[in-house]
Amino acid sequence: MYKITLIPGDGTGPEITEAAVRVFEATGVSFDWEIQNAGEDVYNQEGNPLPDRVIDSIKKNKIAIKGPITTPVGTGFRSVNVTLRQTLDLYSCVRPCKTYTGAKTRYDNIDLVLFRENTEDLYAGIEYEKGSQGAKEIIDLVKKLSDREIRQDSGISIKPISVYGTQRIVRAAFEYARKNKRRKVTSVHKANIMKYSDGLFLEVSREVAKEYPDIEFEDKIIDNMCMQLVQKPELYDILVLPNLYGDVVSDLAAGLIGGLGLAPGANIGEEYAVFEATHGSAPKYKGLNKVNPLAVILSGVMMLRHLGEMEAAERLDKAIASIIKEGKDVTYDMKPTPDDPSAVTTSGMADAIIQQMK
Ligand code: NAD
Repeated sequence: MYKITLIPGDGTGPEITEAAVRVFEATGVSFDWEIQNAGEDVYNQEGNPLPDRVIDSIKKNKIAIKGPITTPVGTGFRSVNVTLRQTLDLYSCVRPCKTYTGAKTRYDNIDLVLFRENTEDLYAGIEYEKGSQGAKEIIDLVKKLSDREIRQDSGISIKPISVYGTQRIVRAAFEYARKNKRRKVTSVHKANIMKYSDGLFLEVSREVAKEYPDIEFEDKIIDNMCMQLVQKPELYDILVLPNLYGDVVSDLAAGLIGGLGLAPGANIGEEYAVFEATHGSAPKYKGLNKVNPLAVILSGVMMLRHLGEMEAAERLDKAIASIIKEGKDVTYDMKPTPDDPSAVTTSGMADAIIQQMK
């Protein structure tokens, strides 16, 4: 029996996780779910979108699976997702993007795994609001140190990238490559422009690559990487990226394999692991029992592998593959057109996967 923290999330999160949990239980692996709510509703009720009880529960159980959580744009609380990753030091965000036969996509041979650094970069959360004392002091300091003018009406976000942070994410990518018999790691950066942050990321990537002579290494500038991924994605295998590029390229890669409904993920640190889809809370579909539960279910396949439940993981993955191949019991986003009347609901798709596993 595995005790797992279950964070249903908000928006479409609760309906997706409810469907996913039924699927996980149908694998025959036994789970004891410790439900911990977080997000917008919890913020409204408890004044904190990520109360300590959630963190404590994950620290106790070591493993969590979560639905997406809304982050207000501009003002409001800080991203629960980012805070969770930083508090638990879940430095490695692993996002596999693989084409399943039958999925609606322009490509049929994609098998990428993204390693997104999860704790540093512009996501470090070190920001100074326009007009604040902090912004003013930084503007003065920059003027003093480098004689460069930052406009007085600027908001400022700091982009730290460290040797320590880069070493561990690049090593995680190479270790994964070795363990899973993958051929190549590509480090993605903009070192030509940001010489001391992205430049460091590149330099450390090159150093770490020397420890893995059995695996090919190359680097790509982020803009070129985007073009290459759209034009010839089959050339790429494992990508390792700083936080922001990792976020953006994750959605691009999801688009290559049929959309966000199919893109799972795991946030992994030395001690804890939190499994979650790449997609957000898709609030406009909240309560409609409409969106695709596969990304969370596929995150569960990753969780089963993490737990060492390989047979159950393969069985579930196979059942998912055959549902996609058949194309009948799939949600609207996987049908030829979004208004296809034969699309099934979130829970309907889970039922079909459960049936397929029997
Ligand atoms: P989103 O991923 O929620 O949705 C974008 C669009 O993608 C949707 O409108 C929908 O068309 C499609 N989509 C997403 N998930 C789908 C699914 N399961 N099935 C079918 N289609 C799906 O992105 P957004 O609208 O930019 O973000 C909404 C909220 O989610 C924001 O508050 C954002 O901050 C948050 N968010 C949370 C996480 C997380 O919890 N890890 C990740 C990304 C965004």
